[in-house]
Amino acid sequence: MGKYREKREFSETPEPTGQPGTTSQQRFVVQEHYASHHHFDFRLELPADFFTSGDPSGPIVLKSWAVPKGISDEKGVKRLAVQVEDHPVGYIDFEGTIPEGQYGAGTVSIWDTGTFEIVEKKPKSLKIVLHGKRLSGEFHLVHTTFGKGNDWLIFK
Ligand code: MN
Repeated sequence: MGKYREKREFSETPEPTGQPGTTSQQRFVVQEHYASHHHFDFRLELPADFFTSGDPSGPIVLKSWAVPKGISDEKGVKRLAVQVEDHPVGYIDFEGTIPEGQYGAGTVSIWDTGTFEIVEKKPKSLKIVLHGKRLSGEFHLVHTTFGKGNDWLIFK
């Protein structure tokens, strides 16, 4: 989580400094973020090496994506999800205001949260079932081969 810490001044932002966890409770969160561009952040509690190891066992982090238009609960509606730096597990219940001048300045609130199950993991895709209040059912995350390397699509 070096990248997470590098981007932030913890004397200025109320965001958690955070430590990686040791076991995953397979929780997810969608945070609504009124930053310079309004967007949503989707986070899954997973091992840091989840996408790079065949047998993930690393410290537990929040794998994170910025979803400009938010995740649709309507089947087949694909939304861009740009993978961003891993966040500490403690970020899962973060709500508050990141001050002016800080990375991601603006207000963060929890839009949905719950647990997930992994249905299928492939090198470039992940099928999960979300058990949230707003989002529930099977969702697919597909790593696209176009654009910058961080672009995924997410859809029900
Ligand atoms: Mn954000």
